[in-house]
Amino acid sequence: MIELNAIHRAYRSDEVETTALADIDLSVQAGEFVAIMGPSGCGKSTLLNILGTIDRPTSGTYLFEGEDIAKAPEAQLAKLRRDRLGFVFQSFNLIDELTIAENVALALAYRSMPAREKRERVDAAMDRVGIAHRRNHHPHQLSGGQQQRAAIARAIVGEPKLILADEPTGNLDTENGAQVMDILTRLNADGATIVMVTHSPAHADIARRTVHMLDGRILSAVRRAA
Ligand code: ADP
Ligand code: ADP
Repeated sequence: MIELNAIHRAYRSDEVETTALADIDLSVQAGEFVAIMGPSGCGKSTLLNILGTIDRPTSGTYLFEGEDIAKAPEAQLAKLRRDRLGFVFQSFNLIDELTIAENVALALAYRSMPAREKRERVDAAMDRVGIAHRRNHHPHQLSGGQQQRAAIARAIVGEPKLILADEPTGNLDTENGAQVMDILTRLNADGATIVMVTHSPAHADIARRTVHMLDGRILSAVRRAA
């Protein structure tokens, strides 16, 4: 599904150049669940941002479903993000002025489908993460775990090809973190491809493969039996 080749990302400010990613090669097959680990500053977020087309590599190629998108026009990337990617963040990023159902529905705003189908999809996504009973609440009325489940519903409602999760359990206690991991595991078993940044070795163990990074490079990849 995804192939990164010789990806390099440098930031330049004044005279100082920082290499965030150096020569990254990474393939992700459809249906995989990949964890990315490494110390702060090693390039995990930069890598996830490039996968999510929020950031662009300085050089290298990025094939998404066979198409080289490293230099694709922004409008094409915006459409790709909307139609084929789902994002989950550490800080949930829900809109507090909207209800949970409205937050989830927002991800379908630019999809052309009948209103009834949108409603059904929103209901189904909320059901899958056990948040339907909070559909008319606003984010601040929910626990952190509930908010992250709602954010996952928003990420999956468009049936994305790839889910990108940046420390999805980073702001959650052990029990809520475990619930979120159970949901991600279930989504993966149902066919979703997931790339997740995590600081939790236990949560990385749940993924099928862990990619260890250091200083902008991939150190090693650990694969686990299915
Ligand atoms: P991680 O997510 O593993 O903590 P990041 O991808 O955020 O690492 O950062 C990788 C490196 O790139 C770090 O040295 C960081 O300081 C640098 N970096 C990240 N974003 C920027 C930026 N916008 N401008 C300059 N340097 C940046
Ligand atoms: P919290 O995460 O704040 O503890 P939950 O939403 O997990 O809150 O739980 C609130 C109540 O809703 C609990 O009684 C729980 O058993 C119930 N509940 C949670 N998920 C579902 C679901 N998918 N269907 C029905 N009831 C649920």
